[in-house]
Amino acid sequence: MPDFDVILVGAGHNGLITAAYLAKAGYKVGVFERRAMVGGAVSTEEIVPGYRFDLGGSAHILIRLTPIVEELELEKFGLSYLELDPVFFAPFKDGDAVFFYRSADKTIEHFESKFPGEGEAYRRFLADWSPFAKTVKDVFLSTPSPFELGKKFVFGKAIQGDWKKALPMILKPYGEVVDHYFKEEKIKSPMVWMAAQSGPPPTEPLNAPFLLWHPLYHEGGAARPKGGSGMLTQVLQRQIEHHGGKVFVNSPVSRFLMSEKKVTGIHCNGIDYTARAVVSGTHALETFTKLLPSEHQPEQAKSLRVGNGFGAILRLALNKPIAYKAFSGIESRIALQLLCENRQEVNRAFGHYLKGEPTPRPPIVAMSFSAVDATLAPPGGEVLWLWAQYFPYELQHGHWDEIAPAVAEDILDTFEEYAPGTKASVVGSLFQHPLWLERELGLYRANVMHLEMTLDQMFMLRPMLGMSEYKSHIKGLYLTGASTHPGGGIMGASGRNAARVVLKDLDKKRI
Ligand SMILES: Cc1cc2nc3c(=O)[nH]c(=O)nc-3n(C[C@H](O)[C@H](O)[C@H](O)COP(=O)(O)OP(=O)(O)OC[C@H]3O[C@@H](n4cnc5c(N)ncnc54)[C@H](O)[C@@H]3O)c2cc1C
Repeated sequence: MPDFDVILVGAGHNGLITAAYLAKAGYKVGVFERRAMVGGAVSTEEIVPGYRFDLGGSAHILIRLTPIVEELELEKFGLSYLELDPVFFAPFKDGDAVFFYRSADKTIEHFESKFPGEGEAYRRFLADWSPFAKTVKDVFLSTPSPFELGKKFVFGKAIQGDWKKALPMILKPYGEVVDHYFKEEKIKSPMVWMAAQSGPPPTEPLNAPFLLWHPLYHEGGAARPKGGSGMLTQVLQRQIEHHGGKVFVNSPVSRFLMSEKKVTGIHCNGIDYTARAVVSGTHALETFTKLLPSEHQPEQAKSLRVGNGFGAILRLALNKPIAYKAFSGIESRIALQLLCENRQEVNRAFGHYLKGEPTPRPPIVAMSFSAVDATLAPPGGEVLWLWAQYFPYELQHGHWDEIAPAVAEDILDTFEEYAPGTKASVVGSLFQHPLWLERELGLYRANVMHLEMTLDQMFMLRPMLGMSEYKSHIKGLYLTGASTHPGGGIMGASGRNAARVVLKDLDKKRI
């Protein structure tokens, strides 16, 4: 009799979601996490006394488009989402500001009143691309196969108009798609800067879908778990334990147990644990090159493109709320704040990255969620997080431990230009530079998406051809997490899709 039906390696949100579905279905699950707490890149800790900092992802956007919270009854276990509306706020140094609201109509009205014609252009953009964006969402929520993609994209209703016009647009770099619709850079640059959050630059062909799914921001909006991003993973742990599952922290798995050509369990902290199946939710390189014995490592693992990191984040504890020059109302603090004057700033930043150097005066996504969640900071205080791009993990000159203080200061100085007085209100900080992200969160080469999010590593090709259906090349070993379809971000789709595959095999007694 094995110790568990299923063992999950890694308690990132995807691994936990897989475990939660299996535990709810009555299977005996054991989750093993290397760190002292669950969550991986979705966790929150009190880093400065009285201030709760997220250590990874903060904006919950994609998961809001899935049925995961309802299906796993996470509200019953204490998850409470706080809506962010406006969703985006883009201040500019000339004192102007643009908002994107949850409501498409309100956004159209706002654009039309500021820049006549641009509201109607936005309406056209949404009408053209909403069906495509919804199809992308459906594809993310299913196991990818050429048949599924064909059925959904080509024979479905992804494109309502003329494919001959749509296809060239889909194949464009996303930085150019906006020119087809808008005249105003103050609308184009926040949209492009948001699209850049998945990593690939605005100038690269074939990546327009990062921008074409923009209509989904009006469908699911953006939200925050009350208490911090990590509440999602804390609540998942509660759910798993409620259903009889066991969660082990401070438990790094050192290798898979193998019998013949099958994975039969794991070795952790000197003990062997057996299971009918093992699901690995770690980075693909951890799974394939550390946990599997060398004779079973797939050849293709050597050519997985992990990239060279792409972002860094400065977390700040402030003794007073931020105040933007361009708009001082609370709406500016609620929204995700997109600090990017124009698209050239993103391109310039990518140029520095290619040269292997940190970007001076980088574009920033600022977040001050204490505006909606009083549990994050003491009364009167604020948490401010400044995510900036692009920052290479491997530097041409110097070492991150040496340059980190100067880079952090430059990010703060950039923010200060938009919201003077911030610097003087800092009472504590944490700078998560690329090396920090790898060391602390196990994100190889600091890629927060695990593997590069480029077409050669998406859909059936993620993590590699033949393994996209959440099954590895070895019997008994399944995969989930950002290294699998549909990739990085707080969505949980991979965790849910993987659970379906494992459940089917368990129910049919194939394992
Ligand atoms: C700073 C930062 C900001 C981000 N911002 C956003 C955002 O605002 N919105 C958004 O949608 N996404 C954001 N992301 C991306 C998103 O958070 C990640 O892509 C996603 O959380 C990955 O989740 P995962 O479960 O697939 O993997 P991970 O979170 O990487 O989980 C893998 C887990 O496996 C564990 N592990 C590894 N090896 C072992 C082992 N040998 N034994 C046991 N355990 C092991 C790790 O400790 C980790 O807990 C951000 C990420 C970071 C780091």
